[in-house]
Amino acid sequence: MPRKNKCRPFIPDPQQMKLAPSVSGNTINGLGEEKVTKPKVVYWASEPNEIPHGKMQKWFYTVDPCLPDFAQERQKRLEIQNMPLPPISAKASEYTSDIWSEKLDKFVTGGICEKIGVAELDQAWVFEGYSATQSRIILTGGQHEFDNIKRVPEPAAGAEVMRQYTRAANSAMTVAAWLHNEGWEAKPLTGPMASTVTMIPAAVAAGFGELGKHGSIINPEFGSSFRLSAVLTDAPIPLSKPASHGVDDFCAACRVCEDACPPFAIMPEKKTVRGINKWYVDFDKCLPFFNEHQGCGICIAVCPWSLPGVGLNLAEKLERKRNRVN
Ligand code: SF4
Ligand code: SF4
Repeated sequence: MPRKNKCRPFIPDPQQMKLAPSVSGNTINGLGEEKVTKPKVVYWASEPNEIPHGKMQKWFYTVDPCLPDFAQERQKRLEIQNMPLPPISAKASEYTSDIWSEKLDKFVTGGICEKIGVAELDQAWVFEGYSATQSRIILTGGQHEFDNIKRVPEPAAGAEVMRQYTRAANSAMTVAAWLHNEGWEAKPLTGPMASTVTMIPAAVAAGFGELGKHGSIINPEFGSSFRLSAVLTDAPIPLSKPASHGVDDFCAACRVCEDACPPFAIMPEKKTVRGINKWYVDFDKCLPFFNEHQGCGICIAVCPWSLPGVGLNLAEKLERKRNRVN
């Protein structure tokens, strides 16, 4: 029996649903497709008129959150994104792996982001219609203030998401500017608008954590309570190791997010999506609630891994359990 949910039943706004396209977002995402294919931009297109759900994307901005923070953060993000990067220095720096890693870690110790990692760019992450020739992708993560994000689905939580997207944009631009100064070309991908690469699988490869049942990454330190941005480059920065801390088995036995999701969008079992068996969120069920609640985020906030102080202990406990079994 699912737990009581104060947001159920959810009846989507008929004005919004009039804008739904005939094609399912799950079809666009490749749900049920056995073949490995490139991802398609399903939402947050920079040109909404170019995607089937573009009218719904535009409708998102008509919902008034009655909080000035939204407009202010959007404006701040725009200014950051439009800041010119410095020219690429003539001499490309060559460092040992340790020095590259040390330099990268400074973005975390300096408070630009809370996590940073590097993966080899896999062409399977590049959106259909986009191209990326760089060999590496650097991912940064900006953690939400939990006291704000726990207020989901109130607008205060959506405003916190906006703030972290602004920080994410700033971190991508700052890392790209640093690389230019080091003599390496770099392309910042600032989010939330989909651009060039789907970031979640890249962040998994860059050691951020594992995909959870709610379709977001789970990291032991931050749970799912963070936002991503990325930088594409050829700088020979050492790659991070993917990390596993027992999330997959944990999610199989947990249903907190399933019960908390008002429109029942979180699927209880893994699905095949473009040739990969993975956790999947029903796009068509999630989107109307997401649009009507400034981005929702309930599944992220209720996930036990996201609760402050819980994730690292949980990971340790699961590791001890694994060691006992093996
Ligand atoms: S709430 Fe539970 S099932 Fe959902 S992602 Fe978090 S751990 Fe996994
Ligand atoms: S973001 Fe989507 S999947 Fe997550 S709780 Fe909200 S409606 Fe459900």
